Amino acid sequence: MMNKDDKAVEFIRDSTVKSFNVHELRDLFPILGQHVNDKPLVYLDNAATTQKPFSVIRSLESFYERFNSNVHRALYTLGEEATQAFEDSREKARQFINASSRSEVIFTRGTTESVNLVASSFGETVVNAGDNVIVSQMEHHSNLVPWQILCEKRNAELRFIPVDSNGNLKIDSLDDLISERTRLLSVTYVSNSLGTINPVKKIIEKAHSRGVPVMIDAAQAAPHLKIDVADTDCDFLALSGHKVYGPTGIGILYGKENLLEMMPPYQSGGEMIKEVKFSGALYNELPYKFEAGTPNIADAVALKPAFEFVENTGFDMISEHENSLLLLATELLKDVEGIRIIGTSKEKVSVLSFVISGTHPYDAGALLDQMGIAVRTGFHCTQPLLQEVYGLNGTIRASFAIYNTADEVTYFADCVRRARNMLA
Ligand code: PMP
Repeated sequence: MMNKDDKAVEFIRDSTVKSFNVHELRDLFPILGQHVNDKPLVYLDNAATTQKPFSVIRSLESFYERFNSNVHRALYTLGEEATQAFEDSREKARQFINASSRSEVIFTRGTTESVNLVASSFGETVVNAGDNVIVSQMEHHSNLVPWQILCEKRNAELRFIPVDSNGNLKIDSLDDLISERTRLLSVTYVSNSLGTINPVKKIIEKAHSRGVPVMIDAAQAAPHLKIDVADTDCDFLALSGHKVYGPTGIGILYGKENLLEMMPPYQSGGEMIKEVKFSGALYNELPYKFEAGTPNIADAVALKPAFEFVENTGFDMISEHENSLLLLATELLKDVEGIRIIGTSKEKVSVLSFVISGTHPYDAGALLDQMGIAVRTGFHCTQPLLQEVYGLNGTIRASFAIYNTADEVTYFADCVRRARNMLA
């Protein structure tokens, strides 16, 4: 009989997987089988981080058991093998986002570091007093605070694309927001607290028609939608491995080569140099110019099986399954008294934020935890959006992944009803 490890490998190898069985797929995720508070775990906090399949876990183990050595410098076999695995993973990442060259794919700690890199290196090069940067009102703090700091440092203005009551960006406002002093527009592809899928291609077209480069925060888009930097024509794009069934502490920054070439290094030290003299240093070529120090090798290597897992499952299958869960959850929650869903755009991924009237999100979250359900409560790192736009002190957020089931959703809705009855 095949064990779960073999099944994971088989799944990865078989790129022709056509039929989808969620129960078989769940078997690839060892964490999902456990009990929490004496109840079967129902993990619905996938927008915070996704669980990992065996293939990713085994990749981490095998790196330390078989290949561990530093990359790019060693001439011995182990070092070459580690370097090969590291660069193979970069190639996989390149394909995953459809970049034209590996030089444009930089390993970072994740979306947060990718945004900080661009804000610091590109931002400090092009933004000066009197200039402006545009973000939206629905940004995660990671794509907000670095621009606040940059604008404060440079005496520049941070402008915001407004959000309407359904959670859609009012992109017509860009006609007025963009000026000849706009140096960059940075916007999220998918909102982590509302689920809205933003029309990034349209936004990029509008910005480019006025000569403004665009950065896309794809942290929440990457697990649900095919990322295609060539098709969208974005100038920068950031994503985190841990939201795409990969490890924490590793992510990607994509940047167009001509922009990355003109940008100064973000951090400096080993790896990012070609030659060093007492009088100064010559920087390494792309992408290494932006990868100072020993990288997070094992986690970078384990990104490859994570991307393969997503690709082999297929975005059509992912969308179909996750949308059916979102639809079911939305319908069931509508029947619960006092529930208000926050984020009702027609274009959504499987993120469901809601409030229960007369209750605090934390209280409902704690009750759901007692029932074995993991959901997120609070501002979800979008405090200005929830507080200043919607006037809320947080929401309860359930976010569904490819391994969640309709039974879990039904149980969740039932538990929300019970929690509401206890708290009301
Ligand atoms: N942007 C969005 C839209 C996110 O959802 C997140 C993570 N919640 C981030 C940025 C930051 O990602 P990380 O913490 O992995 O750097």
